[in-house]
Parts: sequence; structure tokens; C-alpha cells
Amino acid sequence: MQVDFLIVGQGLAGTLLAQALRARGQKVAVVDDGWKSAASQVAAGLMTPLTGRRFTLTPSYPELVAFAERRLTELGVFRPTSVYRMFADDEQKEKGQKRAAMPAYAPFIERVTAGQGELDAGLTDALGGVLMRGAWVDLKKLLADERARLEADGALVIADFQPDEVQSQAEGVVWRTIQARGVVYCDGYKSAQRGPFRYLPWQPAKGEAVSLRSDAPQKPFILNREGWALPLGQGLWRTGTNWAWDQLDEVPTEVQREKLLKRFRGYFGQEVSVEVTAHVAGVRPCTADNLPLLGSHPTEAHTHLFNGLGPRGTVWAPVLAEEMAAYLEAGQPIRPEVNLRRFS
Ligand SMILES: Cc1cc2nc3c(=O)[nH]c(=O)nc-3n(C[C@H](O)[C@H](O)[C@H](O)COP(=O)(O)OP(=O)(O)OC[C@H]3O[C@@H](n4cnc5c(N)ncnc54)[C@H](O)[C@@H]3O)c2cc1C
Repeated sequence: MQVDFLIVGQGLAGTLLAQALRARGQKVAVVDDGWKSAASQVAAGLMTPLTGRRFTLTPSYPELVAFAERRLTELGVFRPTSVYRMFADDEQKEKGQKRAAMPAYAPFIERVTAGQGELDAGLTDALGGVLMRGAWVDLKKLLADERARLEADGALVIADFQPDEVQSQAEGVVWRTIQARGVVYCDGYKSAQRGPFRYLPWQPAKGEAVSLRSDAPQKPFILNREGWALPLGQGLWRTGTNWAWDQLDEVPTEVQREKLLKRFRGYFGQEVSVEVTAHVAGVRPCTADNLPLLGSHPTEAHTHLFNGLGPRGTVWAPVLAEEMAAYLEAGQPIRPEVNLRRFS
């Protein structure tokens, strides 16, 4: 088979890049190992404007999220939702209240509360919190819809891709029966462990999430304090997550399960029942400077990377998939802050 680009991995990055390249008239084939290590299948896909202990709104967030909303709405997977970030301590309260009052933050703030029960009598928000305009992305649907499209086109290969099986030629690459002008690694944290882009400063981080059934009163917003709980209706919730830098694998642990359930129960002012229906783990493709990694290998001209989406893939990926496609197809520049050339 002859294609323009062979994409390795069909997570969020590979999915949106395949679509952006097709929209530019490029023929793609995708090789994926059946989502064996897909962070995108584990993530809740939340978009929260104010993040970190300092309640920071990153300068690029408004631009990125406006684009993401448009694109993901077209794809039927964007779910606008408020997020209630409860202050965990007095320092957070001071920072959060100060930031929420700044003009640049106004479009993302619905309400600031100062004490328990102002927003909802059933929560343990003793210090109050910030109700933000956020969203979550239905990543499972996004990936499943694209998988069906690739299968219908005969453009999906289910296989465990090994970088050393790729042969470089003057005009492109050959992998098994596929000839391509280029290969693009969208294989998440696996690029940190082997292959041509291992030299980059990756900092992959494992996280876990639990799906559960509970009699906890459903809320019209996502609960957020040192983690999150996403109400899915009819007594169903998803809750997560944690950060771990050792044991990078997809194996959920008993320790984290107990921590996540304790945190979930702790959001409510009353006893709530909990029945776990699923418990999953994944590894975020994080980087040393918290920014994505896009571009071409310094010495292998047909070998490219669209990766490093870190903990906020839903915010970055829609814009960057377009930019990566424009780079691959037409040689347009990649914005410097995400260009992998920033690391020599
Ligand atoms: C617990 C957790 C919670 C998260 N929460 C959020 C959140 O709320 N909001 C948010 O925006 N982001 C969140 N993230 C981060 C988000 O998941 C990532 O930014 C994003 O999914 C990365 O997408 P990706 O396509 O780069 O990688 P992945 O989704 O990991 O996709 C890589 C694909 O490549 C495949 N692959 C790997 N190696 C091979 C191989 N050798 N051969 C063939 N195929 C291969 C994998 O199986 C997978 O399908 C979270 C992540 C985790 C783990």
C-alpha cells in the first residue's frame, strides 16, 4: 500500500492528525496495537481553565480552547460543563479569589464562593471555591468513531509496531507492505522508552481512574479538589486521579483505588455508597517543560513526532493536529514553543 503518511498510534494525537491530514487530501495509514497503552482511553478528558495550586490560567488557554471547542463540537464529542474547584486550604483560597477577580479570567469564571453550602448544601466545601466554565471530551467516542472510519477505508493495521522494522529510503520509509513519504510517531509515552525520539526530555507520569455507581446526589458540575469526580447521570461517576513516576504501566493498584474512593466520599457531606465498575491506569506523555513535542527527527528527515501532550491533551491536540498536518503537507512552521528543536 502506498500512502502519504504512516501514523503510529491511534490515541487522541493519532486520531486528530489522521483527520487533519485527510482534510488536506493526504492519504494515511494508521498502525495501532489495539489501544494497549492508550492514555486517551483512561483520561476523563477534562478541560479546566484554572489549574495548579496557584489557579493559573495559561496565556494560550483561551485560543487553544476556543479552537478545540469548535473542532470537537463538529466531531460531536465536546461536552461543556461547569467545574467546581473547591479550595483545599487557606493559601489556595487566597490565590484562587485573587485570580478569579482578574479581568483575563472573567470569561471562565461563573461564581466564587467563600464558605460551605453557598453553591450546594451537600458538599464539604468549607472554604468555598471557584465555579469555572469547563468541559469534558468524550474521548472513547472520538477514538471509536475514527477507528470505524479507518477500518472502512482499509487504512488501519492492528500490530505491535517496532521502530527497527522501518526502512528509510531516499523518498520516504517502508514498513512491512506500506510505503509512505513519512512516518509520524503518535504513540504516547512509548516514544520515551524506545525509538528515534527517546533522546528528548520526557517525564511520563502514570495516573489511575475509577468508574463507579453511587447514591451520591448527582451534581450539574464536575467536582474538583486535589482530583475530580465527573457525574455521568443515573448514579454513574468517574473519579481520578494521581501522579506516579515509577512503575510506568497500565496496571491499576489497590492503594490508589482506596485513595480515589476515599477522596470521592470526602466531597460529600453525607455517607455515600460506592460500587466500583471499572478501575484503569494509563501513562501521560509528559515532558520536562510541560509543553508538547512536534517536528521532525534531526537526522532522519522522513521521521516525525506529534506527541508530548501531557496532562492536557484535549486542550492542545485539536490546534496542534492542524499545525502538524500543515507542517507535514505544506512545510508550514510549527509554533516555536512546541517545536522539538527547542531541545538540541
Ligand atoms: C489517568 C489520566 C487522566 C487524564 N486526564 C486528562 C484530562 O482530564 N484531560 C486531558 O486533557 N488529558 C488528560 N490526560 C492526558 C491525556 O490522556 C493525554 O494527553 C492524551 O490522551 C495523549 O494522547 P496520545 O494520543 O498522545 O497518547 P495515547 O492516548 O497514549 O495514544 C498512543 C497510542 O499508541 C499506541 N501504541 C503505543 N505503542 C505502540 C506500538 N509499539 N505499536 C502500535 N501502537 C502503539 C497505544 O496503544 C495508543 O493507542 C489524562 C491521562 C491519564 C493517564
